Amino acid sequence: MSNLEQITATLRTDTGLVRGHNEDFVSHWEPSNLDEETKNGWLYIVADGVGGADAGEVASELTTDRTIKHYLEHAEEADWGQRLLNAMQAANTELRQYVLERNDNSRMATTMVAVALRENHAYIANVGDSRGYLWRNGRIRQITKDQSLVAKLVEEGAITEEEAHFHPRRNVILYSLGSERSPKIDLFEETLETGDILFLCSDGLTRHVADEEIALVLSEDPPDKAASRLINKANDRGGEDNISVAVIRFEGETAVATETASVPRTQPLVMPAAMPANEDEVNRSALWVYTLALGLVQATLIFLVWLLLRV
Ligand code: CA
Repeated sequence: MSNLEQITATLRTDTGLVRGHNEDFVSHWEPSNLDEETKNGWLYIVADGVGGADAGEVASELTTDRTIKHYLEHAEEADWGQRLLNAMQAANTELRQYVLERNDNSRMATTMVAVALRENHAYIANVGDSRGYLWRNGRIRQITKDQSLVAKLVEEGAITEEEAHFHPRRNVILYSLGSERSPKIDLFEETLETGDILFLCSDGLTRHVADEEIALVLSEDPPDKAASRLINKANDRGGEDNISVAVIRFEGETAVATETASVPRTQPLVMPAAMPANEDEVNRSALWVYTLALGLVQATLIFLVWLLLRV
């Protein structure tokens, strides 16, 4: 099963209306032939950097580039979820090394939500409070769990979701790439159906646009237009932070279709399938013997009649 020509994706990032520069970074890797697709599938990343001066944008871009590099270099890893986690962990180590070498006391870190697609299977890795969603038949569901202080407080029942939205410390994230040696990176897996959309975004979008609105826009427009509309919506409402989105539409075959398709391929290999052919051969031989015997009987009868008439 190949997804070439079956995936339509748009990634976009915008500075917003308040920040002086864009610390978000979006990137992807897509195969150009079947061999590349089999080896690496498809990879999409949204990262949201934090730190003073230029630190945030360096962190998000450097870790995204390194994650893609490490991911592509380790096609031998059979478990693609683990392969993605390893790539992000390696990028984390490299970012920390970079900060050490820069030696200017800068604090560099970044969130990251990354999706690796293999046939109809999606591996979603997340660190921080950027998000990954699954849109299916007009409805949207958040796949990732926000690694943020407010999400933890909501989980513990200390505050409500509504309060979390306006909480003064809503920007505090619990884990990020660059902040510690081995940050907690969550991994999720989804089996995709034809028409599904994987949607990634930074908190600059979700601060202004509700999940139901995202679902509606994804239902109405193709990826390219949906991405622009969502960014415009966030900017119309103040654009307080950098805004990034990735809309990945899957039009490949579903698992059910694959199983159905594989049935005719496996059948000829099954021995019982060859039996009707042998039976036919047996039947054909019997028919020949029968025809021959009938012909012989007929010839004998004709000979006997001829003999009787002569006598
Ligand atoms: Ca942000």
